[in-house]
Amino acid sequence: MHTQRRAAIIGSGPNGLAAAVVLARAGLDVTVYEGAQTPGGGLRTRPLGPDGAVRDVCSAVHPMVLPSPFFRALGIAERVDYAVPDISYAHALRPGHAAIAYRDIERTAEELGADGRAWRSLLGPLSRHINELLEVSLNSMLRLPTHPLLTVRFGLRVLEQAGALKNVRWRGQDAPALLSGAVAHGSTKQPSFAAAAAGLVLAAAAHGEGGWPLPLGGAQVLANELIRDLEAHGGRVSTGRWIRSLDDLDGPAPEIVIADTSARDLARIAGPVLPARYRRSLERVPYGMGIAKIDAVLDGPIPWLDPRLQASGTVHVGGTAKQVHGAENLTMKGRYPHRPFVLVAQPGAVDPSRAPEGHHVLWAYSHAPAGDEVDRSDVLLATLEEHAPGLRDRIVHLETTTAARAGEENPNYPGGDIACGRLDLYRLFARPVLAPQPWRTPAKGLYLASAAAVPGPGVHGMAGYLAAATALADAGLGLPAEFAQVR
Ligand SMILES: Cc1cc2nc3c(=O)[nH]c(=O)nc-3n(C[C@H](O)[C@H](O)[C@H](O)COP(=O)(O)OP(=O)(O)OC[C@H]3O[C@@H](n4cnc5c(N)ncnc54)[C@H](O)[C@@H]3O)c2cc1C
Repeated sequence: MHTQRRAAIIGSGPNGLAAAVVLARAGLDVTVYEGAQTPGGGLRTRPLGPDGAVRDVCSAVHPMVLPSPFFRALGIAERVDYAVPDISYAHALRPGHAAIAYRDIERTAEELGADGRAWRSLLGPLSRHINELLEVSLNSMLRLPTHPLLTVRFGLRVLEQAGALKNVRWRGQDAPALLSGAVAHGSTKQPSFAAAAAGLVLAAAAHGEGGWPLPLGGAQVLANELIRDLEAHGGRVSTGRWIRSLDDLDGPAPEIVIADTSARDLARIAGPVLPARYRRSLERVPYGMGIAKIDAVLDGPIPWLDPRLQASGTVHVGGTAKQVHGAENLTMKGRYPHRPFVLVAQPGAVDPSRAPEGHHVLWAYSHAPAGDEVDRSDVLLATLEEHAPGLRDRIVHLETTTAARAGEENPNYPGGDIACGRLDLYRLFARPVLAPQPWRTPAKGLYLASAAAVPGPGVHGMAGYLAAATALADAGLGLPAEFAQVR
């Protein structure tokens, strides 16, 4: 009698679900174990206040979904409705004055004036090939590049923006500030190789076909679609199931186990089957800054002094590039700045479904010292009020998440580190260890698929896809035909 081969996935974030979909489509019987009561990890959307508004618990804006090799192969653009704002992101420099990254790079360059040409030459060659750029950057850095010329172009720009040369091309303050906001998403030292690499991908995506899109209804719709796909291929998600040891998995040991967990949790869960040296490497993975977040329901849009900002899905508030670097580096040292760099998503700019009529949802966070237990909502709101006076008066409901709380809510964010492990030059390559296929552990059939593995944080599903593809190859099983072109 033919028995179906079995696989278990621990964790239902975008990477866990991506791995599950690939294995289920390859014909395995897949169970996803999720500790929380709702699936989705960083894709969860929850009620906000009593009147039907919703908040994205973690990710709100998905610049890497539409150009991700995995999601393109899955045809996600036809399956999830994404709203693509004409303004990908804006950067508030001082009260009433902002720089704007339109999806249209020409319009962006025009408004940047003297720095327009430099902006176009920095990002144009990358944004014109955004799909290929993600093939290069969302994979192991220890393989032969699939697009050598683009890789060289990208590498040179990373080198320029990572250090002493970062200002040579700029004449004014707007363009470097606009870039610094994208670069600060890297959640690490500024300037640095890792931050420049992450930031240039995001800044290029802003001018790519998909821009910086927001899923209509909230990030949860992406998780729901992945779960629908998994179930259509015979798999299932079991919630409320924290896995603390491989013995917690149902039935006889599955042939493939893929962990969408932090490196240190993988060490705990699979400790007995892992060689001591590898286990110690997982335990030693360093963690970075946390986040301090607010979610609010407003009885109107954010009253930005610069009215153009109302049409932007994402707004960075942080002053000049120098000020952004200062705030981020201070936070890296464990202190909270007087005026932090704040990332704002305002889904209401493109998606009225997030709040009752006439109301808007504010999603904003800054980085914060690792494990910070202090409620930073006062400073966050004061920083925003400088650019949007009267904001506080519009708040009808406010929720706040400290770094410590973010870590308690999702064990993949230890101390609130939403990157699931610090990003630096070494950790771009060695995630969680230096290996050509870092998703494979030394234990037979066991893989790591989370943001703790290459290519790191963000909603792109590629760590999950690459772990699953490695597992299938190791088991002598074929990759489903629809993924044959994913490189
Ligand atoms: C506040 C915030 C804002 C963000 N903003 C953005 C954004 O706008 N755009 C973007 O692209 N990215 C953003 N991110 C990052 C993005 O959400 C993550 O990089 C991404 O979700 C990582 O996916 P993952 O599958 O690796 O892990 P996660 O999404 O964190 O999922 C891991 C899941 O595994 C479960 N789990 C862990 N251990 C166990 C266990 N032992 N047993 C059972 N279940 C377990 C967890 O409960 C969780 O559900 C943000 C993150 C946060 C927190």
